[in-house]
Amino acid sequence: MTRRSVEGSASALSIRGVCKSFGSGSVLADIDLAVGEGEIVSLVGPSGCGKSTLLRIVAGLEQADRGTVQIGARDVSGLPPGARNVAMVFQSLALYPHLTGRQNIALPLRARRLTRLQRLLGPLRLSASVRSIEREIDGAVDDIAARLDIGGVIDRVPARLSGGQRQRVAIGRALVRDSRLLLLDEPLSSLDAKVRVQARDEIVQIQRAFGVACVFVTHDQGEALAISDRVAVMLGGRVAQFGTPAEIYRNPVSLAVARFVGTPTINVLDGATDAAGRVHAAGFVFDVRLSASAGQAVSVAIRPEQVRIAGGQDDSRPLLRVARIEDHGHDGLVHLAGRDGNAVVLVARASRALAFQPGDEVCVSISADDALYFAEDGSRLAGLPVAMAA
Ligand code: ADP
Ligand code: MG
Repeated sequence: MTRRSVEGSASALSIRGVCKSFGSGSVLADIDLAVGEGEIVSLVGPSGCGKSTLLRIVAGLEQADRGTVQIGARDVSGLPPGARNVAMVFQSLALYPHLTGRQNIALPLRARRLTRLQRLLGPLRLSASVRSIEREIDGAVDDIAARLDIGGVIDRVPARLSGGQRQRVAIGRALVRDSRLLLLDEPLSSLDAKVRVQARDEIVQIQRAFGVACVFVTHDQGEALAISDRVAVMLGGRVAQFGTPAEIYRNPVSLAVARFVGTPTINVLDGATDAAGRVHAAGFVFDVRLSASAGQAVSVAIRPEQVRIAGGQDDSRPLLRVARIEDHGHDGLVHLAGRDGNAVVLVARASRALAFQPGDEVCVSISADDALYFAEDGSRLAGLPVAMAA
């Protein structure tokens, strides 16, 4: 998938300083977020962190206590949902079961273009003007159904459509009004793993084909990294980090973000600095020069693919014992414990995991440049340039 450059383009959505409490409980604290034209941004975070509340505030279904929401060039903070020109698809998809796909997609157009009486009389084809509007609506529905590749099935009711087709009907209904902003609240969470990957790829294809800006809510960090131009990691009612998937994965701003992103979870070793700023942890010596005083506690975090099982023991490369192998086919995970204890200290991703056996003693190396260092409060510690370190 090619990621679209968003630099310099206008914002399709900008959220500034949004706060929201329910009763005495703060749910959203000072949220800032901007989504570029044609960009797909995920809001990802554990259940209950405020993702749906933020999306509902954007759609106008919920009122923020403070802050503004701007869609395109327009401040929509005070506008009702219908006046915001946003399209929203919920987890449930919320299709009317007794209406066909065509009727479901046509609903927003009929609601806008026909009066209640005309909608009732419509099928009787009483008036020429209603007939002509109905024809236009049919044309618009056929057009969007063709673009979504569901032209052959839209006269079926939802129960006779596949999960993917239902999703496309729901997106069609959302997009038929030419909205410039598509909001998706966990639309895939009811699907099983395999269909879910297909459905998420389809969402990206549709989003690209329509060129519509999209905010995609999910609690699944892998899904967020896979489909997004940028990802907003929400933890505790705040945007903990907002960046490209690569930035979030490789350059997390805090230990909490590092731990939230990545499967399996990032390895974390407890360590401490020495007088030279190097870090000692679990028998490893990391030759960095941290801007930290000697004896300061440091958490060293290492992605499983950066743990190398290699020969050649020396003082900075301890021996570990293979506790368990997980074979995933194309690669595998090697769970490594200390030589004398059973506790797993590291998980390594290895392309040849089956070359090892439980009980093997192996030498492990980790490049100091690949590890991430965090202070006790979870904030990131940067290495100093060598020239400044003395
Ligand atoms: P998420 O979508 O990330 O799972 P939500 O935005 O649905 O989280 O909810 C965030 C928090 O706000 C939760 O603790 C939830 O119980 C609370 N909450 C959401 N809506 C309401 C409401 N209408 N009244 C009271 N509490 C609410
Ligand atoms: Mg939710």
